[in-house]
Amino acid sequence: MPLTSLPPLALYAHIPWCVRKCPYCDFNSHERSGTLPEGEYVEKLLADLEGLLPSVWGRRLTSIFIGGGTPSLFSPRAIDTLLAGIRARLTLEPGAEVTLEANPGTVEAARFRGYRDAGVNRLSIGVQSFDDRMLRALGRIHSAAEARAAIDAALTAFDNVNLDLMYALPDQDPSMLSSDMQQALACGVPHLSAYQLTLEPNTVFWSKPPELPEHDLCADMQVMVEEILKKSGFEHYETAAFARPGHRCRHNLNYWQFGDYLGIGAGAHGKISFPDRITRHERAKQPREYLSQKNNLSEHQVPSAELPFEFMLNALRLVEGFPVVLFEERTGVPLRVIEKELKEAETKGLLERDWQRIRPSARGRLFLNELLALFLPGGRSGSEPEFIPLRPAART
Ligand code: SF4
Repeated sequence: MPLTSLPPLALYAHIPWCVRKCPYCDFNSHERSGTLPEGEYVEKLLADLEGLLPSVWGRRLTSIFIGGGTPSLFSPRAIDTLLAGIRARLTLEPGAEVTLEANPGTVEAARFRGYRDAGVNRLSIGVQSFDDRMLRALGRIHSAAEARAAIDAALTAFDNVNLDLMYALPDQDPSMLSSDMQQALACGVPHLSAYQLTLEPNTVFWSKPPELPEHDLCADMQVMVEEILKKSGFEHYETAAFARPGHRCRHNLNYWQFGDYLGIGAGAHGKISFPDRITRHERAKQPREYLSQKNNLSEHQVPSAELPFEFMLNALRLVEGFPVVLFEERTGVPLRVIEKELKEAETKGLLERDWQRIRPSARGRLFLNELLALFLPGGRSGSEPEFIPLRPAART
C-alpha cells in the first residue's frame, strides 16, 4: 500500500573518533591518533548530504543529532561549518532540536559556548557514573569531579542537557547505584538516559569479562532506576530515557516513531520513505575508508515483509506505545497483517491495546526482547520469557 504521507525527517551526523576506546563499547568509534582531519571530514559530511538531497526534495529537517564517537573533539569552528552547511542545503523547522554529544575531559566552558553559538541547542554528556571506582572499571578517561565540572559548564550554556548513565557495573551494589542517581538528579538536568552495562562481541569486556551483578540484581536495579526517577518528577518515556515534562528528545522520538533520518559520516545509517517504498542507507564504517572512497554509500529497499518488525522494534521501546493508526501510516502495511502476533502478545501479558493505542505492558517492557521476537518475519514461538538487557540507542 502506498504511504499516505511522509514522516518527519531528521539528520544524524557521525563523528567516529574518541580519545581512547572504552572496553565495553562496540560502537563505531576509533581511538584518535594525531590531529583529527576535521576540515576534510566536515567537507565529506556535507558532500554526503548533497548526494541525498534528490531523495528528500522539499522536505524540512525536524532535528539534527551530531553523535559519535566523541563529537566534542571537533572544534566549535568545525561544528559551525557543518551546521551552516546543513542549513544552506536543507531548511530546518523553526525551533528544530540540534544535539551534540560531549564527553567530560574533552570540553571546557568556552567550547560549550562556541557550540551554542554555532546553533547547537541540546547537549548530551557521557557521564556514566559519579563514582571514581566505577569510572576506572569502565575505562573512562574522566573522573567524577571532571564530569561535574563538565555538567556545570554545560548548564551555563544550555538549558537542554542530557546525561548518559550506566548501571549494573562491576562490583556495583544498589546503594552505589542510588548514590549515582541522586548525584545525577542533584545536577538539575532535565533529561537522563540510564543503560545497563552489557557485554558485547568485539569488545575488550567480551574477551575479558569483568564480574557483573547477578541477573536478578540487574533486573532489580532497572526497577530501582525507574522508581527513583519517577519519584523525582521524571517521565519514563522510552526503555532507557527519562525526561522532565517538555524535555523528551525529539530526535530519538522520531527514530522510535519510525520517522525518516538521513545518515552522514563514517558508518552512519539512514532511512528514507517514498510514497511507494522505504529505503535504508549505510556508509563505509572505517574513517580512513570513508574519507578515501568517492562513493561510501550502500542502499537497499526494505522488503515489506520486514516492515512490521522494524516498526515494532522501535515503537515498542516507547512506554506509551503508539497510536494504532501510526503503524499503517509509517509502514504502508495494514495492521491486520500482524493481528495474530498482537493477540499472542496480549495473551502472554506482554502487550496492551485499546482502539486508540498499542503499548507494551509492564511485563512486556521488562521482557521486551521476547515481545519483539513475536514480530520477527517468520515468527518465533517462545516459552517462558527471559529478562534480556536492552542495548542503548547510542553511547557517548
Ligand atoms: S563509550 Fe563513548 S567515549 Fe567510550 S569509546 Fe564508545 S563512543 Fe567513545
